[in-house]
Amino acid sequence: MVRARKRFGQNFLTDTTIIDKIVGRFEGCPGEQTIVEIGPGRGALTTGLLNTGARLIALELDRDLIPLLQQQFRKHNNLTLHQTDALRFDFNTLREYAPLRLVGNLPYNVATPLIFKLLDDLSLIQDMHFMLQWEVVARLCARAGDKHYGQLSVMVQNLCESTILLEVPPESFNPAPKVNSGVIQLTPRAEPLISKALQEQFSTVVKTSFSQRRKTLRNNLKGVLTEAQIKESGIEPGLRAEVLTIEQFAALTDTLAQHSD
Ligand code: SAM
Repeated sequence: MVRARKRFGQNFLTDTTIIDKIVGRFEGCPGEQTIVEIGPGRGALTTGLLNTGARLIALELDRDLIPLLQQQFRKHNNLTLHQTDALRFDFNTLREYAPLRLVGNLPYNVATPLIFKLLDDLSLIQDMHFMLQWEVVARLCARAGDKHYGQLSVMVQNLCESTILLEVPPESFNPAPKVNSGVIQLTPRAEPLISKALQEQFSTVVKTSFSQRRKTLRNNLKGVLTEAQIKESGIEPGLRAEVLTIEQFAALTDTLAQHSD
């Protein structure tokens, strides 16, 4: 058996209860679904996913794992394996199979950049089930006022509904990671909470509001919105970004849009 490679973030899932719970999200769906697995590794999730009968497209970066996966799944004609970096992969090449269902036990360094990349391809995606380091799970699912609430929470939740499905301890993997993990579901919204035309201004407002967490909106938003404009949006300028709901960021964005006309 090949050794787990640290540089590819390889912590292989060994806990069959967790594996069954993740695979269970894909069972009982009509035959035509297409699942894209990021980082099949040694196939912990792949076996169950293939057994659902879905078309499975798997993206694996580690060249050494490819022949092993090919051998292991040689009898399955519903698997397409790509040796590729998911961060560079053009998901648009899979448009003919959309809506895609994405799944993966993601390496820590890949998770956040991959999710940001996928936010540009949401029109192709039905849903995403990802195993992530617990801190990222908490940030993606945090609501206004939670200590993990920040730019990532707001930008992702504007476009997707985010739900925590499972908390997973280190012993569920080999080798065991140092921290807890969790499984989340991200489901693209039919329409973003903030209208498409205002996405750029929304992004500026959110990024600037959180630029220094300890500072108030009045301070962080200097140069973007005046104190009077923050008040005009119905928001107290002495608040910190971490207590603002997405709707309140939307109100600030509307004000910015009105004043930049
Ligand atoms: N799915 C397997 C499991 O649950 O046991 C493996 C999970 S392991 C945490 C992450 C997998 O993603 C590894 O197989 C690793 O080689 C692969 N990987 C790492 N970076 C990747 C990237 N940029 N694109 C595609 N796969 C990647």
